[in-house]
Amino acid sequence: QQTHVRKPDWLKTRINTNKSYRNLKKLMRDNRLNTVCEEARCPNLHECWSERKTATFMILGDTCTRGCRFCAVKTGLPNELDWGEPERVADSVTVMGLKHVVVTAVARDDLNDGGAAVFAETVRAIRRKNPGCTIEILPSDMKGDYESLHTLMDSGPDIFNHNIETVRRLTKRVRARATYDRSLELLRRVKEIAPKTPTKSSIMVGLGEEKEEIIQAMDDLLNHNVDIVTLGQYLQPTKKHLEVVRYYHPDEFEELKNIALEKGFSHCEAGPLVRSSYHADEQVSNAAAQ
Ligand code: SF4
Ligand code: SF4
Repeated sequence: QQTHVRKPDWLKTRINTNKSYRNLKKLMRDNRLNTVCEEARCPNLHECWSERKTATFMILGDTCTRGCRFCAVKTGLPNELDWGEPERVADSVTVMGLKHVVVTAVARDDLNDGGAAVFAETVRAIRRKNPGCTIEILPSDMKGDYESLHTLMDSGPDIFNHNIETVRRLTKRVRARATYDRSLELLRRVKEIAPKTPTKSSIMVGLGEEKEEIIQAMDDLLNHNVDIVTLGQYLQPTKKHLEVVRYYHPDEFEELKNIALEKGFSHCEAGPLVRSSYHADEQVSNAAAQ
């Protein structure tokens, strides 16, 4: 039996709900679009949407065929494929005036291509309508189907992001139907297909991992040619999800960041509220300067 650990003060943020935020929310509803920013009630929403001009769209429906034990996205029978979605995402990027967009998707294990065709079309539509906006993709492991990976990479994203989420030992507990090695292999292959495209991965901490295991995960990512790593605090979305085992202090994140940079990552974001897509705009310019 686990004792409940108390949420520290640095994690208590207020969700900003001003008028422009409400307008953008309405834009999403009207266009039947989903963002991770809203779904995950991300604490950085105001900063990202209003100041940094970045957002994370979740495409291919709002229902995932997997049920990872840390994730708040609903699980079940997925929606029909929506070929109008790519254009609607692209138009919303225009209305929001985004400079950097992250496109992620629920895992569509029900589809032969894992949704790669619609995903790639979304990247193309954003590019066509928003030539100045950088595009980061954050797909699932595509069931390890490398043909689908090629379909995705053909669309020419600026950053390829795929999260290992946790250390090797905890993967089975935390992620559904995904393996640590398959995710690493996916990242390695991206570099093989597009050597100049920066690759990125994210680790949540607070799930019971040891520091040495985090460092090992960093080494594993580097050995698979990953350029950028982000580290953030795991927060339990509802009581049904995995409990937080430990809250890391901001200083510990700073230490992990220094370790990551010393080891050779080109960029690292680490902090209690850091999410996979946090400050992603900086990462593109950093990677381009390499
Ligand atoms: Fe959205 Fe990511 Fe920013 Fe959170 S950190 S608001 S999920 S873009
Ligand atoms: Fe959530 Fe992605 Fe896992 Fe689906 S595959 S449950 S969207 S983390």
